[in-house]
Amino acid sequence: MAKKQEIVEAAKKVATKAAKAAKEVAEVAVEKAAEVAKEVVQEAAKVVEAAPKANSQKPTAKVITPKMAKIPEGPLEKKWTNYKDHQKLVNPANKRKLDVIVVGTGLAGASAAASLAEMGFNVLNFCIQDSPRRAHSIAAQGGINAAKNYQNDGDSVYRLFYDTIKGGDYRAREANVYRLAEVSNNIIDQCVAQGVPFAREYGGLLDNRSFGGAQVSRTFYAKGQTGQQLLLGAYSALSRQIGKGKVKMYTRYEMLDIVMIKDEQGEPRARGIIARNLVTGRIERFFAHAVVIGSGGYGNTFFLSTNAMASNGSAAMQMYRHGAYFANPCYAQIHPTCIPKHGDFQSKLTLMSESLRNDGRIWVPKKLEDAKKLQAGQIKGRDIPEEDRDYYLERRYPAFGNLVPRDVASRAAKERCDAGYGVNNTGLAVFLDFSDAIKRLGKDVVAQKYGNLFQMYEKIVDENPYENPMMIFPAIHYTMGGIWVDYELQTSVKGLFCIGEANFSDHGANRLGASALMQGLADGYFVLPYTIQNYLADQIGVPRMSTDRPEFAEAEKAVQAKIEKLMAIQGKESVDTIHKRLGLVMWDFVGMGRTAESLKEAIKKIDEIKKDFWTNVYIPGKADSLNNELEKALRLADFIEIGRLMAIDALNREESCGGHFREEYQTEEGEALRQDDKFSYVACWKYQGEDKEPELIKEPLDYEFTERKTRNYKS
Ligand SMILES: Cc1cc2nc3c(=O)[nH]c(=O)nc-3n(C[C@H](O)[C@H](O)[C@H](O)COP(=O)(O)OP(=O)(O)OC[C@H]3O[C@@H](n4cnc5c(N)ncnc54)[C@H](O)[C@@H]3O)c2cc1C
Repeated sequence: MAKKQEIVEAAKKVATKAAKAAKEVAEVAVEKAAEVAKEVVQEAAKVVEAAPKANSQKPTAKVITPKMAKIPEGPLEKKWTNYKDHQKLVNPANKRKLDVIVVGTGLAGASAAASLAEMGFNVLNFCIQDSPRRAHSIAAQGGINAAKNYQNDGDSVYRLFYDTIKGGDYRAREANVYRLAEVSNNIIDQCVAQGVPFAREYGGLLDNRSFGGAQVSRTFYAKGQTGQQLLLGAYSALSRQIGKGKVKMYTRYEMLDIVMIKDEQGEPRARGIIARNLVTGRIERFFAHAVVIGSGGYGNTFFLSTNAMASNGSAAMQMYRHGAYFANPCYAQIHPTCIPKHGDFQSKLTLMSESLRNDGRIWVPKKLEDAKKLQAGQIKGRDIPEEDRDYYLERRYPAFGNLVPRDVASRAAKERCDAGYGVNNTGLAVFLDFSDAIKRLGKDVVAQKYGNLFQMYEKIVDENPYENPMMIFPAIHYTMGGIWVDYELQTSVKGLFCIGEANFSDHGANRLGASALMQGLADGYFVLPYTIQNYLADQIGVPRMSTDRPEFAEAEKAVQAKIEKLMAIQGKESVDTIHKRLGLVMWDFVGMGRTAESLKEAIKKIDEIKKDFWTNVYIPGKADSLNNELEKALRLADFIEIGRLMAIDALNREESCGGHFREEYQTEEGEALRQDDKFSYVACWKYQGEDKEPELIKEPLDYEFTERKTRNYKS
């Protein structure tokens, strides 16, 4: 009996202890939860502050987990193989029953359309230009990366992956980047098989050169026309499928909306598009089981950029308005080697390829008086002796020298020009000099490697770059931000996929040179053709739908109403005048250096521009015929919204990373200062309705396979 009493007492003691411990744990948990809640509230408050307009919907900072992003489990190097081994497939007979719309014929769109058709799907392919070959990708000059290690200089899939993650300042998703590096070698094989004339060494092997952010030579190139040659390869594959009737090509068509139809569970799915025939002005409807968008980047928000004149962000905004998240809109790339702006009536900037930094050396004068003489046109670059030249990239970044990544090189040029050392009449230029290379290699070799670029420079600037150093200055070039996609390249909207520059996927906060062509072709030739099947396998029972359905009619009506609204304004300002104003605000306030103050000011100014646009734009001509001004106006309406979203995102991101440089967050040496504890996430913005502030959703970025470090290009 006494024994039993003892046991009861002991049990009581244990129970009391356990209760005490549980209470303590609960207290700690409550404290921790309060801390987390406080952080969330603080972050939400920041976003609300970022958006000066009244907002009934407070941002809730929801989270996207790796599972939601469909990142396969397992070791990094096995993820893609595992995915392919277990994904659903569509059999050949069923492929014939399924239609896919591909918007875009750049490297991403053309390679996807050709591959999907070759697999047996029926493809409807759209582009704005009069030929798929005129997509902006044709402008790409310098090259395409791949981890072939032909130079035997230590390259590998892991090193390409690592350089890309580091180059993006640890703001990209590891699994996607590894897959990109993994398929990079297949791209080169595919293109060589198509007959793409990559440069070769004397012995016949493919040649390579170096691009920024890498210490190996892994860039494959075709003189300064790599994009053109790759696009001709993709175009020939596409043409074959057009000839076989598997691709129906719609040139001079612009998508103006995506059509959503609810499935049996009430979930909206992308089932078609509304497009305007740009020649006749007719609005037309198109059905498909899935919609793929490869519409390129939104750099032209800044008006002046190196992008093609027709590049635009409207397709991205159409996706966004239907619920696709817009990820990291503030990540825009400013390229260090562009021909400087020369006047107020200019509508385009020209890139001098990054490949020129292989052999060209960047410098400004050491002495301010020399800079002043250059600015006054009293002397030329070649007149300044060697000892008076400041090769500032080689001085500041000895390990990478002239081949530091673009964001680093651009900021360093700005720093020298801001200090008064600029070398042209506006003081906004630095030299890119080939005199050493000509001495070392001879003029003929330099001409063989870069001849067409030198010729282009001479035509635009009217100066011979073999005799006097070229002048260059940073300009908007590429947008790393874009529509959020999961590992399958599917957006947050079912049945809507996004590829190439239009998505946010692989470059983090800064893209390394020669990686965009790699990503576009990886997406189109090697990733989407697999992943889209995982979606389409569940659609084989879905019959083709009539475009007479009310969803199509409503979408078309909304497009017509928007066009009529624009045409009815008949104000006093041309589309370009307003666009130029937007561009100046973007460059001055959301450009190379951003502050909380400048970004708030930008939002205010963009709101004013929006008001002006919708009350005072002038569009001549008619809506039911060819009308370039109407096309531009429709795109500008979206650029204005994108500009605002970029500013909101940049204001939210209180750190500097890659191309996003918040002046409040920099090291003593003026380098970007990340805040990994607070901002190691993809910022996904969810549309909440016209004139409502977007909701912030975060995809945390955990680095399992790389150690996050401060980027160092000095040693
Ligand atoms: C001057 C320059 C040089 C470059 N050099 C290099 C380089 O050397 N290496 C590298 O890796 N990257 C380079 N880049 C970047 C690279 O060229 C681009 O990122 C890439 O080509 C984008 O390809 P894309 O297929 O995603 O889009 P794009 O080539 O821009 O194609 C977009 C397509 O979408 C269509 N489209 C858009 N909106 C609509 C709509 N609403 N309806 C119908 N169709 C629509 C267009 O008609 C077009 O066919 C360079 C960029 C520039 C500006």
